[in-house]
Amino acid sequence: METRDVLIIGSGPAGLTAAIYTARGNLRPLLIEGTDAGGQLMLTTLVENWPGHRDGIMGPDLMGEMRAQAQRFGTEIIQGHVTKVDLGRRPFVVRTAEHEYAARALIIATGASARLLGLPSERTLMGHGVSTCATCDGYFFRGLEIAVVGGGDSAMEEATFLTRFASKVTVIHRRDALRASKVMQDKARQNPKIAWMLNHEVDEIRDPGKGEVTSVVVRHVSTGAKTEIPVAGVFVAIGHTPNTGLFKDQLALDRNGYLVTHDGVKTSVEGVFACGDVQDHVYRQAVTAAGSGCMAALDAERYLESLPAHAESAAAAGLVEPRS
Ligand code: NAP
Repeated sequence: METRDVLIIGSGPAGLTAAIYTARGNLRPLLIEGTDAGGQLMLTTLVENWPGHRDGIMGPDLMGEMRAQAQRFGTEIIQGHVTKVDLGRRPFVVRTAEHEYAARALIIATGASARLLGLPSERTLMGHGVSTCATCDGYFFRGLEIAVVGGGDSAMEEATFLTRFASKVTVIHRRDALRASKVMQDKARQNPKIAWMLNHEVDEIRDPGKGEVTSVVVRHVSTGAKTEIPVAGVFVAIGHTPNTGLFKDQLALDRNGYLVTHDGVKTSVEGVFACGDVQDHVYRQAVTAAGSGCMAALDAERYLESLPAHAESAAAAGLVEPRS
């Protein structure tokens, strides 16, 4: 089993940016893509807030460009899904169903998955009126009526933010009490553009046949009575699940399951770095994920330079000056 300097798990903006930087740093990174290659941007259509594309860029196109850029500098990309990691050994060991890899430094960029309602219409219309990111897509709903699903802080935050664009925002929540903190509830409740549909669950989002959102059908949780609300967009804000199952018992996680980082992107194990949504439940933007991917790459590089064996072999290859 060959030992690589850097192994990256995840292929969203964080993982691919880490790959671009480590590849350009001559570290020949190996990147394991995961099952949802490209990450959450593969579920979006036009991305208008990625700097440098004044007319916007389609999410899958942006990820395709990043992937090609990472490969151009020598990143080796494996289309696998990591099933196990062993961070108690040095080098670290990472397994997929087919292979086992060893790496001196590990960059974790496995992201977080937006929780979804699980309706077929939600999946079909994702990126075509259904969204999981108000910051990304709110702008497309100027002057239109939309719905936000959820009763937590995210739903309150998104509903409040979306009133900047939408003429009306209906919050659909499955209970009569909101889960959100009082301060965020109060802010939303005081907003005259927000309407409330409590004790209701989403039954269906219409109209997949037209390829756009025309309404949402909600069902009263006790009576079963259905109501159709005409909306042009549905924002699903029922939380995110960080993809950290692999690291439980090996790395420090916070109470919501996100990887805990310190001094930027360092995890609780030296030589293991985490970037993007797997360690960030606050900003969750492509550009911040990419920024933290860059930080992970630079920190991994510094960490590798500090390893005695690496310093000697790099000096022998004429790559770096030997450390005194
Ligand atoms: P959350 O607190 O877990 O709330 C999720 C909401 O979605 C709950 O109201 C839940 O309903 C509802 N829900 C979950 N699954 C559902 C389903 N299948 N169908 C319908 N509704 C469903 O998630 P979050 O709002 O994303 O917040 C996550 C964490 O981030 C929290 O700790 C929060 O405080 C924090 N956060 C903070 C801020 C801020 O301070 N600015 C902003 C956003 C998030 P029930 O209530 O019935 O369970």
